[in-house]
Amino acid sequence: MSKKIEGGCLCGAVRYESDAEPLFAVNCHCRHCQMTSGSTHIPGIGLPAAAFSHTGDVTWYKIQNDRGGQSMRAFCPTCGTPIMGQIEGEEILFLHVITLDDPGGFAPQMDIFESSAQPWDRFDDTLPRFAKMPPMGE
Ligand SMILES: [Zn+2]
Ligand SMILES: [Zn+2]
Repeated sequence: MSKKIEGGCLCGAVRYESDAEPLFAVNCHCRHCQMTSGSTHIPGIGLPAAAFSHTGDVTWYKIQNDRGGQSMRAFCPTCGTPIMGQIEGEEILFLHVITLDDPGGFAPQMDIFESSAQPWDRFDDTLPRFAKMPPMGE
């Protein structure tokens, strides 16, 4: 995925773009992603927040995360499309791949938060899985 990243919400009020290379590509099965998406997980990519821009208003809200900090989530206040998340104090956006104009190029590297995955969820057996976050620092 080296081409420009562009996307937006369902109603079109929010549009975004980024020239950055994704830092990671994961399927996240955490409870926040389940509740936010209304489904089993969120396919997402990490982007440097500084290299991301959007037009149109998004609504941010905060929730407590299991690391004792705050996680923030953003959605379009008109159509409700969940667009992205960010851990407070970190510079990485977690962008929901399904909101890309062309989500078909997504190539997940791993599944994370398997510990909260639903027992009826399905996994790609060729991908590594992590109980929560993968070890950081490559
Ligand atoms: Zn919208
Ligand atoms: Zn998650």
